[in-house]
Amino acid sequence: MNYAEIVAKFSCMAEEKGMVNSLEGNLSMIDRTTGNIYITPSHKAKRLLTPEMICVVDPQGEQIGGTGKKSSEFFLHEAAYKARPDCNAVFHCHAPYLTAYAFAYRDFNTDPNTFLHTIFGNIVCLPYGEHGTHAIHKGIEEALNGRPVALLGGHGVVCVGEDLEDAIGILEAAENYAKTIFNRDQMK
Ligand SMILES: [Zn+2]
Repeated sequence: MNYAEIVAKFSCMAEEKGMVNSLEGNLSMIDRTTGNIYITPSHKAKRLLTPEMICVVDPQGEQIGGTGKKSSEFFLHEAAYKARPDCNAVFHCHAPYLTAYAFAYRDFNTDPNTFLHTIFGNIVCLPYGEHGTHAIHKGIEEALNGRPVALLGGHGVVCVGEDLEDAIGILEAAENYAKTIFNRDQMK
């Protein structure tokens, strides 16, 4: 499968899991050889995306392929790839439990005694940055330093991975973890 086919396939999977929809969330992959980024288009149902619709953006930021209009969160993806040259996939969504922390502008300090702490560390919340601008990724380098997930203040969550299967799995696990902590706190 080529990059566009992979992005279309995992976009469909993410929507089937209820993690994204036509208005929320975006997924991408980078071809580290050319530097081109393959990203989902704006305002399209992710489950209906075809490889032809996936936007191809060159290292100068010009869209050079794909019938859709590149996601307005392209800058966020670009910054995540710069922050983590070891990663080839970025997944952004508004997973409700993690996003609750983002709306509270709170880091999600994971319990150091849990196995998941070794994967996530403490998840850092970035300050608010306007949607679709460079302000949205201010501080992302430090936030993703040795950690795969960062919260976007007042907005949502972003995750990097070796590939999209990895990124979606990590974000799903982080969201489940946040949900568990929320439920645990109801028991007190
Ligand atoms: Zn968003």
